Amino acid sequence: MSGRILVSDFGGVLTSPLPEAFARVQEEAGISAEALGGAMARMAERDGMNPLHELECGRITEPAFMAALGAEIEAELGRPVEMHRFSERYFAALEPNTEMLGLVRAVRERGLRTALLTNNVREWEPRWRSMLPVDELFELVVDSAFVGLRKPDPAIYHLTCERLGARAEQCVFVDDIEINCEAAAALGMTAVHFRTTAQARREIEAALGSVV
Ligand SMILES: [Mg+2]
Repeated sequence: MSGRILVSDFGGVLTSPLPEAFARVQEEAGISAEALGGAMARMAERDGMNPLHELECGRITEPAFMAALGAEIEAELGRPVEMHRFSERYFAALEPNTEMLGLVRAVRERGLRTALLTNNVREWEPRWRSMLPVDELFELVVDSAFVGLRKPDPAIYHLTCERLGARAEQCVFVDDIEINCEAAAALGMTAVHFRTTAQARREIEAALGSVV
């Protein structure tokens, strides 16, 4: 099993679960999940592209995304909504998953290689980076917003392997979104679908060999 490389997602794996954070933001902003989802779906249909994907690939800015989304929600609810505080609220609701961060550290201390592969937002980089010692834990970061590709596009997994100088078969990939895991597995990576910290930890340790 030598030469195994841990490739981890960020949101929902190295943090508290994302649905909890979204629920808190929606509650604080007075926007229901239905209103938010409906606005995104209408934007996707009208523009022929998913606005979230455009944001995550760095093709639109976060302020432009929030303004467009806010306008769409306001049109539906018939009242102003505070989208400008969305990211502030979102990050306030998100906690680092210290047990998963400890696992990454243990993997690294054991001499195995580690990479972070994240679908993210360019303007959020300082916020998410402040939640963990990124450069201590990972030798490589591939961020969708800076490479113009997002999971589950096979191209971003290929790019990660290329930058690691590694084969997909060497990689143990962990993500809380199933389609991202399916894409990784299709390319030959060992995929771990994160559901709980205990389950993911068990499966990662088994895939890497005993870590601790
Ligand atoms: Mg995630």
